[in-house]
Amino acid sequence: MTCYLGAHLSSSKGFYKMGQAALAIDANTFQCFLRNPRGSKAKAADPADLARLRELMAEHQFGPFVAHAPYIMNPCSKDEGIRELAARMMSEDLALMEHLPGNYYNFHPGSHVGQGVETGCRQIADMLDRVVRPNQQTTVLLETMAGKGSEIGGRFEELRMILDMASCQEWLGVCLDTCHVSDGGYDIRDDLDGVLAEFDRVIGLGRLKAVHINDSMNPLGSHKDRHALIGEGTIGEEVILRVISHPALRDLPFILETPTDDAGHGEEIRRLRAAL
Ligand code: FE
Ligand code: FE
Ligand code: ZN
Repeated sequence: MTCYLGAHLSSSKGFYKMGQAALAIDANTFQCFLRNPRGSKAKAADPADLARLRELMAEHQFGPFVAHAPYIMNPCSKDEGIRELAARMMSEDLALMEHLPGNYYNFHPGSHVGQGVETGCRQIADMLDRVVRPNQQTTVLLETMAGKGSEIGGRFEELRMILDMASCQEWLGVCLDTCHVSDGGYDIRDDLDGVLAEFDRVIGLGRLKAVHINDSMNPLGSHKDRHALIGEGTIGEEVILRVISHPALRDLPFILETPTDDAGHGEEIRRLRAAL
């Protein structure tokens, strides 16, 4: 059984180098930012570099990889300028992703600032309808969140609302983050099947395209969002292994976002692979 395991890689010089960095830690998928995660300035696309990454991924039978939108993106800010910035950044990023067809672009739905969940979801859906281009080759993923503050996406129902409000549904999917859902109150440790059944009922498992595998520093329902190393948090390595090998999930790319560097992620990947 092929298992697509990878990690969020610390940024390096170029996409081909990123693919090599993934290979160096025994990964066959990865996640990265397309620009400085805290800034808004886009890197210019280098088509030759992107083509070399495509070749490397094909040669080494990589699963789809996940580009992660910058953290400062907030498509449901009450400030119109910040919403515009989010739309511009996502539009530029999706243009770059067309050089890497068939992969994923994941973003945090955002935090509403008093407008309420429904208006927030409407603003997110509106932005998606503006920036997703017909016939694009990238699926845009909404990430499940911990529900910290007024963060949207802490409940599966909120992601469902965004999907329902968007006309571009066909290009949308979901990325499940194990730390976030546990912090959000979904008991994947003691009832993984129940959580997946709930996901299927509300969103549909067909929408689930990628999984962030993180342990959590905080207990179930804490709404905190602090990732822990695999086996050093409240979820535990055994549960993460159950997630990776679950029949409903096992073909998806699994991405570590644990608090360590590339080498540390390599150790986690090897340990998980050995235990599978
Ligand atoms: Fe994220
Ligand atoms: Fe995540
Ligand atoms: Zn997180």
